[in-house]
Amino acid sequence: MPESRPKRPRASRDAIAKISQELERALSRKRLVADPDLLENYATDESCAGSYVPQIAVRPKTTEDVEKSIAIAVRNGVPVVPRGGGTGRAGGCLAVEGGMVLAMEGMNRIISLDKSSFTATVQPGVVTGALHEAVEAEGMFYPPDPSSLDSCQIGGNVATNASGPRNPKYGPTRDQLLGLEVVLATGERLRLGGRALKGVAGYDLVSLFCGSEGTLGVITEVTLRLLPRPRHVETALLFFPGADLASRAVVAIMQAGHSPRALEMMDHVALEAIRPKALFRFPEGNQSSLILELDGNDKDALFASLASIGEQAESSLGASLVLVARDESQRRDIWASRRLLSPAIKERWGQKYAEDIAVPLSEVPRIVERVHQRAAEQELETAIFGHAGDGSLHVNILFQDQSAWPSVMRAAEAIFRDTVELGGTITSEHGIGILKRPYLALEQTPPLIALQRQMKRLFDPRDLMNPGKIFP
Ligand SMILES: Cc1cc2nc3c(=O)[nH]c(=O)nc-3n(C[C@H](O)[C@H](O)[C@H](O)COP(=O)(O)OP(=O)(O)OC[C@H]3O[C@@H](n4cnc5c(N)ncnc54)[C@H](O)[C@@H]3O)c2cc1C
Repeated sequence: MPESRPKRPRASRDAIAKISQELERALSRKRLVADPDLLENYATDESCAGSYVPQIAVRPKTTEDVEKSIAIAVRNGVPVVPRGGGTGRAGGCLAVEGGMVLAMEGMNRIISLDKSSFTATVQPGVVTGALHEAVEAEGMFYPPDPSSLDSCQIGGNVATNASGPRNPKYGPTRDQLLGLEVVLATGERLRLGGRALKGVAGYDLVSLFCGSEGTLGVITEVTLRLLPRPRHVETALLFFPGADLASRAVVAIMQAGHSPRALEMMDHVALEAIRPKALFRFPEGNQSSLILELDGNDKDALFASLASIGEQAESSLGASLVLVARDESQRRDIWASRRLLSPAIKERWGQKYAEDIAVPLSEVPRIVERVHQRAAEQELETAIFGHAGDGSLHVNILFQDQSAWPSVMRAAEAIFRDTVELGGTITSEHGIGILKRPYLALEQTPPLIALQRQMKRLFDPRDLMNPGKIFP
C-alpha cells in the first residue's frame, strides 16, 4: 500500500497571532489578509472539494515578499498554500490543513516580451488571457488556452501543466516553459532553466515543477517560449447523430494526417446546456459536434484542408452537417460559447463531478462507450466534452442532490479504472489536488508514489508546502 500521513491539526490561534505580527513587521501591512470575511474569498476553488478557510493570507508583490512570508510561516510550523486564480478543478489551492494562503494575484507584471528571441518573462499572477493579448499585440503567439483563461494565472497554469483546445497541435504549458524562479520551503530561491530553447544541464527541474501543484515551492517568475502568430485560422463545426460517431471521427481525422490545432468534442447533453446561452446559434436537433480549427500562413492551403476534412466527415464518417465559420466574429462566438460550457452544465444540472481523463487517441471511441455504460449502471447522466483531438475528455457526472454522491463516486471510480486499463490517465490537465488522491494508486505503483514522496521531502522536509495534496 502507498504510504500515508495523518492530517496535521490547524495552527493554534497564538501561532497565527505570532506570525501575523511578524508578517506585519516584515511586509507592508496592506499585503496581509487576516479579516475572516476576506479570508472566505480564498476558501474554495472551482472544484466540488469543499470549503477550507485559511487562517491568514498574504498578497505578495515581489519575490522578496514571498521569501519573507515563507520564512516566517515555516519558522512557526505553519503550512503555506500557493493560490493563483482559484479556477482549479481539483482543490489544489485549498488550505486543507489551515495555515497561510499566498495569493499571487498582485504579482501580475509582464516583465519582458522579447521579439528578438520569442520569449516572455512574467510574474506568476499574470492572467493567461492578458498574456495572450499582450503577446498577440506584438505579432507573437502563446498557444496554451485553458477555457478559464479570463481568470486563471500563468503560475497556476505552470503548477497544473494546463492546456486547452489548442493542445493537439501545440501541447500543454510544459511545452512552452523555458525557465522558472521558485522559492522553496527551505527558504532557497532558485532559478531553473533559462531563456534558451534547449538545455540538458543537470536534471530537468523545470518540468518537475510543472504540474507539481504547489507542493514543491512557490513559482515567482516564469519564462515562456513564444511563436510567430499564425496569419490565418479557419474554424468549422461538424455535427454527428451521436457521440459514438463523433468520437470515431476524431480518430479518423487525426489518423488521416491532418494537424488541426483544435478538435473539440461536445456531446448532446453539453450542446443542450449551452444552446440557450451561446452567442453562436447551434442548430437544433443535432446530437454531438466537433469544433475543428486549423491554422497556418497559407490561406488557400488551410481552406483546402478544411474542405477535405469536411468532405471526409460527410461522405464516410457519418456527419450530418458541416458549418464553416464565416468570419472572425463568428469564430470568436463559437469559442466564447465553448467557454460557457462548464458553468452552463452546472447551472442546468445543479451539481457535477468533473473528470479530466485522457486515453491514447485510438481509444477515444471506446472510453466514450464505457463512460455511458458506467453512468447507466449507476442510473446517472453524463455530459462529455473536451479536447478530444489529443485524447482528453471532460466527463461530467451530473446530479442534483447529495444523496446521489455514493453513486457518483462509484461511477467515477469505474471510469478511472477503465481509463487506466485503456492506457490512459486519471487527470490530463486539472491535477490530483485533493479530489483525486484516492485514485492515484489506480494509475501509479506504490514504489513510484513512495519515490515521489521522498522527492517532496527533499524540497520540503517539514511537509509545509501545500500539504495534503496529490498523495493518497
Ligand atoms: C470554466 C473552467 C474551464 C477550465 N478549462 C480548463 C482547460 O481548458 N484546461 C485546463 O488545463 N484547465 C482548465 N480549467 C482548470 C483550471 O483553470 C486550471 O487548472 C488552471 O491552470 C488553474 O490556474 P489558477 O491560476 O486558477 O490556479 P489555482 O486554482 O489557484 O491553483 C491550482 C494549483 O496551482 C498551484 N499554484 C497556483 N499558483 C502557484 C504558484 N505561483 N506557485 C506554485 N503553485 C501555484 C496551487 O497551489 C494549486 O495546487 C478550467 C477551470 C474552469 C473553472
